[in-house]
Amino acid sequence: MTVAGLIELNALEAAERLQNGEFSAVELVEAYLGQIRRHDPAILAYLRVSEENARLEAEAIDAAPDRPPLGGLPAAVKDVLVTEGIVTTCASRMLENYRPIYTATCIRQMRRAGMIILGKTNMDEFAMGSSTENSAFGPTHNPWDLDRVPGGSSGGSAAAVAAREALWALGSDTGGSIRQPAAFCGVVGLKPTYGSVSRYGLVAFASSFDQVGPITRTVSDAALMLRHLVGKDPRDSTSIAYPKEILIPEDRDLSGLRIGVIRELVGEGIDAGVMAVFDQTVKNLAIAGAEIVESSLPHAEYALPAYYILAPAEASANLARFDGVRYGLRAAGAAGITEMYETTRSRGFGDEVKRRIMLGTYALSSGYYDAYYGRSQKVRTLIVEDFQKAFGAADLLISPTAPTTAFRLGEKTGDPLTMYMSDICTIPVNLAGLPAISIPAGLSDGLPVGLQIIGPAFSENRLLAAARGAELAIGFDAAPPLGEVS
Ligand code: GLN
Repeated sequence: MTVAGLIELNALEAAERLQNGEFSAVELVEAYLGQIRRHDPAILAYLRVSEENARLEAEAIDAAPDRPPLGGLPAAVKDVLVTEGIVTTCASRMLENYRPIYTATCIRQMRRAGMIILGKTNMDEFAMGSSTENSAFGPTHNPWDLDRVPGGSSGGSAAAVAAREALWALGSDTGGSIRQPAAFCGVVGLKPTYGSVSRYGLVAFASSFDQVGPITRTVSDAALMLRHLVGKDPRDSTSIAYPKEILIPEDRDLSGLRIGVIRELVGEGIDAGVMAVFDQTVKNLAIAGAEIVESSLPHAEYALPAYYILAPAEASANLARFDGVRYGLRAAGAAGITEMYETTRSRGFGDEVKRRIMLGTYALSSGYYDAYYGRSQKVRTLIVEDFQKAFGAADLLISPTAPTTAFRLGEKTGDPLTMYMSDICTIPVNLAGLPAISIPAGLSDGLPVGLQIIGPAFSENRLLAAARGAELAIGFDAAPPLGEVS
């Protein structure tokens, strides 16, 4: 098989052919390393490529008598997941040289199943952002248009998968960070039900929202990865044993499914080009047999303000550990311990991270706690109830994944509120802890548009089956026009 042929296989296909001995894990890894060398200088999806490690792991897998289920499938990993011996930065100066002494549970599970790590991918610093421009090490470029952002915060992972610089990738999603970059890069991104994947070794941003999940080229690959990600971990008390086995969805239509279009997340505030693709998608889902109904989340408009109190509040507590004593950077030359803390944190954190810490500390301070944090918690409950009611009359809910397609680099960096609006369709899902997937729905002016499908808690099998049906109904098969590199 040619190198170009190898990197066009999806994970399920590659797994099958590796098992049949059609090519080796080393050949597959080399094909991806070659693609990274050719295209990553322009895209900058990776912060670090572990060439040597990847080769050694591939050789070991080829030499072993039995190939594990994911044996030899190369992945990109968002740099928010700790990897023993491999520097893990969260795209922050604060952790520039941080070499973890353990590996995140979700990665250990994937590696036990045979997955190979190609490298660590770029992101918004500590996962705070929607464009990967908040990385301390410079932005990632969208493979569909290098002048545009890949979305964020898992922008490096999504760009790597879109550019065939990884077979698949791991991301994390607190308010949309898997789904929105997947939409911007024309790939599949799944945020699982809160608690289904261990957060041990995921550097904490907002612990009651954060979840790890797959970024892949196909829905079936997302199912394959999720199957190995879920599980109870004694090291994360919020993790739970997933109630069922995750199944690879069958190729079938959407008959028998009631799909609710969320009234508050379509129309006003969503770009016309995105709406055009979405409306066409709804028609295609109906042709594929789905019964389309109208659904409502009456409190959706309060989701964004509540999230921007709650997530920064949790972040302000979680980021207190970066004090110059325990991890990473320590500012030199300070006169005493207080000055050392202050200088370390003012040098180590970027502007957006500081903004979140200030917002969160303010919202939690005495006198403001009830007015901001307490009220936001009540809004969170109202949104949970909105979803419960909506699922009384629909099996699954849909909306566009993001209100726009990929915007230009620098377009929104001066205006944090506009940047925050990028997650208007994804954030309600995190407030309620639900599973949701973004799949490519088409192109608008040559840029990908995502369809978001949301399910009740632990309905991943139903969600994936519907997403597979939608994938067939939509028939998206475009790939980014990567220029020839000499
Ligand atoms: N863009 C949102 C934020 O900045 C969500 C980020 C995420 O999901 N990690 O908080």
